[in-house]
Amino acid sequence: MDENTTTIMAALATLPPHQLSNLTHSIFSETLRRRRRLAALLSSQTLFSLSLRRLHSLSLHDKTLLIARHLLSSLRLLTTTTITTNNIPPIKARDSDAVLLLLHLCEVRQHNPAALETTPFEWRATLRGLYADTLLSFGTGIGVHNGSLLVPYIETVARCLRFVTGERKVGGDVAAAVSTVVALPSAVASGGAECAICREEMRGGREVCELPCRHLFHWRCVLPWLKKRNTCPCCRFQLPTDDVFGEIQRLWEVLIKMISTSGGGVGMKE
Ligand SMILES: [Zn+2]
Ligand SMILES: [Zn+2]
Repeated sequence: MDENTTTIMAALATLPPHQLSNLTHSIFSETLRRRRRLAALLSSQTLFSLSLRRLHSLSLHDKTLLIARHLLSSLRLLTTTTITTNNIPPIKARDSDAVLLLLHLCEVRQHNPAALETTPFEWRATLRGLYADTLLSFGTGIGVHNGSLLVPYIETVARCLRFVTGERKVGGDVAAAVSTVVALPSAVASGGAECAICREEMRGGREVCELPCRHLFHWRCVLPWLKKRNTCPCCRFQLPTDDVFGEIQRLWEVLIKMISTSGGGVGMKE
């Protein structure tokens, strides 16, 4: 197991049993859906050729972005307890097929490099044979124990993370998601506290902005701030963003925080 896999496992281990069981259930349905789709792709020459052609038409940058989006949907599933309001659209059907095929090709190349030393025309038969073997080794998937489904799912997430962080440096400032910003609640200042952005007092009775971490700011100060960054000026709490890579970074930190706050820590850390 690599470092990313271990981190995700450790984060999931902090969940209470009912949440873990819900999560396992969602992962089960999602895995089943993806496997059925991949089986359909490998069974139909037309679907297979279309997806392969789609993959060939993508630049490395587009492929990275596609894997990043796929990774994001997996990470969202793993961090269901947190807010996920942003405008990142779901993956289109043809791209979803292309990324399933791409990930399957990467996996085959890793475990069985010789299998792809034929012309792409022959790939489908080879991949289909290998895929049937994988399915057999997993059993039918009904009533299987948590680990046998969770682990392959998490390993795919870790593989995508390696790919995405290898191709593009994750990090840097990104704007908070517009849909999140417009949904931020107002609070009434009690007076005496200062706004950490302008260092001026928030006078009592005034409407101020409250971030999910409970920190308060003048509306006129926080709005321009969130156009440039998605973090709280006081505690660096991360708001959702419309940037795919920024969002991956945020959800990854949510997982890390799950581990660090599980040792008796309550609520948000300052
Ligand atoms: Zn201010
Ligand atoms: Zn804060």
